[in-house]
Amino acid sequence: MDSSGPATSRDFVREIIDEHAESNRFEGRVRTRFPPEPNGYLHIGHAKAVCLNFGIAEDYGGRCNLRFDDTNPTKEESKYVEGIIDDVRWLGFDWGDKALFASDYFDQMYTYALQLVRAGKAYVDDLTMDEIREYRGTLTTPGKNSPHRDRSAEENLDLFDRMKAGEFDDGARVLRAKIDMANPNILMRDPVMYRILKASHHRTGDSWCIYPLYDWAHGLGDSIEGVTHSVCSLEFEVHRPLYDWFLDALDIFHPQQIEFARLNISYTVLSKRRLLELVQGKHVDDWDDPRMPTLTGLRRRGFSARSIRNFCKRIGVAKFNSIIALELLEHCVRDDLNKTSPRFMGVLRPLRVVIENYPEGKTEELEAVNNPEDPDAGTRKVPFSKVLYIERDDFMEDPPRKFYRLSPGREVRLRYAYFITCKEVVKDDSGEVIEVVCTYDPATRGGDSPDGRKVKSTLHWVSAEHAFDAEVRLYDKLFTVENPDGQKDVDFKDFLNPNSLEILPACKVEPAARALQPFDRIQFERQGYFCVDPNTTDAKTIFNRTVSLRDTWAKIQKKQQSKK
Ligand code: ATP
Ligand code: MG
Repeated sequence: MDSSGPATSRDFVREIIDEHAESNRFEGRVRTRFPPEPNGYLHIGHAKAVCLNFGIAEDYGGRCNLRFDDTNPTKEESKYVEGIIDDVRWLGFDWGDKALFASDYFDQMYTYALQLVRAGKAYVDDLTMDEIREYRGTLTTPGKNSPHRDRSAEENLDLFDRMKAGEFDDGARVLRAKIDMANPNILMRDPVMYRILKASHHRTGDSWCIYPLYDWAHGLGDSIEGVTHSVCSLEFEVHRPLYDWFLDALDIFHPQQIEFARLNISYTVLSKRRLLELVQGKHVDDWDDPRMPTLTGLRRRGFSARSIRNFCKRIGVAKFNSIIALELLEHCVRDDLNKTSPRFMGVLRPLRVVIENYPEGKTEELEAVNNPEDPDAGTRKVPFSKVLYIERDDFMEDPPRKFYRLSPGREVRLRYAYFITCKEVVKDDSGEVIEVVCTYDPATRGGDSPDGRKVKSTLHWVSAEHAFDAEVRLYDKLFTVENPDGQKDVDFKDFLNPNSLEILPACKVEPAARALQPFDRIQFERQGYFCVDPNTTDAKTIFNRTVSLRDTWAKIQKKQQSKK
């Protein structure tokens, strides 16, 4: 792993681990896990958990398991398992021999459940899910015991066995822990451990028709794997007493659960359920749509794994929830791509320029710097000829006072090429400018004037004869408000930004960029960072804009500080 970016700071999770090292709680061992449910692809929030768990393992010379939490067969699929494996690898982490699955422990979990039943700590309940909810009580009133709570161990063993054998219908019975129906923590009021669900599982097929619930399964998985620190997000804080209760009741190896704040980012949603809704409702193309905050989407958009890891370092780990500005994520990718991506010239909205005094049929190869931030990146040749394209926005026939780019009579520099002066404008019948006629000064070859003459702007350009056509996709925020999911009584989809995608079908790109491959990341000078889309073919090249060049993070930071 590279060590760019600020060193990992001492967060409160690492402080707890340090204390455990000192008190020798786990004999100096550190084992973490990242436990995704394979019911969707990973998003940038998961990246925070991945970087934290795998990062801790690296820091302490321990290991981090990748464990799929596959206890809910109706929502889980193998395609998500494969996608998640790809995503974690792409982020740059490794989990040793193989991925693990909660379903690998179904037998062991069942054995543990029998142990609790025999000990009088679990019972089979015939109440329906609705009745269970009713009996549970509220935050202010205690719950009521189920009429089936005091069944004998023998009867419970028999019924549980028959549940497993498939004798009862879905929902007819459940296995519950016998804890305390008056406990102030509602989760402790005899939580359900197993439910009947006659559904095929993506790994265990039809072997099981009872499935464990999260609270029961999770701590067991951790214990079986010898996980020392079970790091999860804040919403599990109230589950911790239950996590501890199961492990204590079984008297087995007992990991420490530690909770941290989930990542939220402005102008997007970070929940697989919400993201699935966007995919199913065709609001985006798929999980890897470059507007999605998924890792596949970000990757296709042009984010590097390093930029995401750096972002996770920058935001740190805390115990209170907050919304991180999208601009910080964009700042992190700019920072990385600035150092690493080669520069090219591409004209997004082309305007034809004819150099009147340049010889017909002549081509010159001019030298251009590949990356001014990287002296090792070298130079390349860019062809120059009589007919060029410049950006439509870089010309105005009737410019306002502060417009310094090309206009009638004005001289500007073409990057790496020559000074040109606008002489004439050609319009079509509707009055739209379709061509600009210029002259060039041969003495300014390379873009410098020998007489020290100054020009106020430098434009990018391509040679019409040598450029190739490309489609460019520009992206904007997916939602129009900072917290689309936080508005009461309003569907988050109502805040979708109708202009989040703009397709420019007829862009012109310098020939050296022809050799680029899918996922290559570049800068088009003055236009931003771009990534070659995986759907690029020989016939059609597609570039996704990752971000523009304008970094608004500093401004946002100032605004945030003045609010405090
Ligand atoms: P989602 O709500 O997106 O479905 P989840 O928590 O249900 O998220 P899991 O697959 O269960 O998704 O999550 C795997 C791990 O990733 C968990 O430990 C969870 O705490 C963590 N995680 C999920 N979302 C975030 C987030 N936004 N920030 C930090 N960690 C997260
Ligand atoms: Mg979940």
